[in-house]
Amino acid sequence: MADETRTSESSSGDRPDRGERRPSSRPGGPGGSREGGGGAGRKYFRRKKVCKFCVEKIEAINYKDIRLLAQFVAESGRIVPRRLTGVCTPHQRRLSLAIKQARNIALLPFSGRAA
Ligand SMILES: [Zn+2]
Repeated sequence: MADETRTSESSSGDRPDRGERRPSSRPGGPGGSREGGGGAGRKYFRRKKVCKFCVEKIEAINYKDIRLLAQFVAESGRIVPRRLTGVCTPHQRRLSLAIKQARNIALLPFSGRAA
């Protein structure tokens, strides 16, 4: 630990005002801290959404494939909407069917059970 005890050295008292003062508020200069406009869609990554089932060429969704289904079921037990998962409509239909079947045999929770 430092042992020095500085008691009010004249670090901020005696200095003559040298040079020019900075104006506290500049008139808007070019550039500066403005962000370049135009980039509106940068908030989240735009991951390319492709239907997983189409990509993997899964035609029939097996309701016993919990690990697969679980990717499309939120923690609350609800089916994640298509716009979030990127699953295409025909596959989403099969997916929701499979999820419902899985629920029937208690592989997946029903929605609304959370909380
Ligand atoms: Zn698909």
